[in-house]
Amino acid sequence: MPDFCAAYGCSNRRCVESRQRGITFHSFPKDGERRRQWEVALRRENFVVNNRTMICSEHFKAEDFDRTGQTVRLKAGVGPTIFCFPAHLHKVVPTISTATFRRADDNLDVSLDEPKLDELGAMGERHKEEKQQATDHTYGFPSCPKSIKAKLDAASARVRKLEREKSNSIKRERRAKKCIQSLLKELEDKNLITEELNDNLERYSGFPVHLLPRQGVDYTQDQREFALTLHLHGPKAYNYLRETLKIHLPHPSSLQRWLSSVDSKPGLNKRMLDML
Ligand SMILES: [Zn+2]
Repeated sequence: MPDFCAAYGCSNRRCVESRQRGITFHSFPKDGERRRQWEVALRRENFVVNNRTMICSEHFKAEDFDRTGQTVRLKAGVGPTIFCFPAHLHKVVPTISTATFRRADDNLDVSLDEPKLDELGAMGERHKEEKQQATDHTYGFPSCPKSIKAKLDAASARVRKLEREKSNSIKRERRAKKCIQSLLKELEDKNLITEELNDNLERYSGFPVHLLPRQGVDYTQDQREFALTLHLHGPKAYNYLRETLKIHLPHPSSLQRWLSSVDSKPGLNKRMLDML
């Protein structure tokens, strides 16, 4: 008579095919207390383990095995922890405190939920510590792909949603800083420009920041005036915008060049003088 795995929902049995897949079968402990712990871990109602009861290697973590000898053995003191329980047998005990992580934990609760600490004593404690590691290897994956797939789908949908939210909030932040006015406000808040300078620059406040070109040659006259005025009266503020906020303002050397050519542009010259 073939040996079937006693774990809930597992249909593995000892045969050529399971051997080829590297699945090994293990008897339950002879010792009464430990056998009882394994029995509890199975969560099978009215199921009594006997000396012929087997459980397959898919319910143990990779590090639970001693593979040094000819036969694969379980190390002393280990117990089965990986099962594919239906929802009504799940016992979710959140271990991470923030609400976000608790939600993620629920979604990711593939099958590693395990018997309560008081049921398994020290064995449970050990598994609790190793729960995280257990997700890192594939050896112990339960034989219930549909359930895993559903959980993974839910988890990745949640990841996608969080990524969308993050990207939206970055866009919102960018939009908030989109015009010169909000930049001026920030500069004033940081004491990088005086109220007076802010007033002087008021007429440029409607400039959309994203229209500031990347190369000096393309700046409009208004943009040049704004840059020149700010650089002249608030060089720190200018550098802050340019270097910290990465606003596309002309390099100070371009400003120098413009200033030296102001003579040949009477209109700009006059407006600059009016402002200064
Ligand atoms: Zn099994």
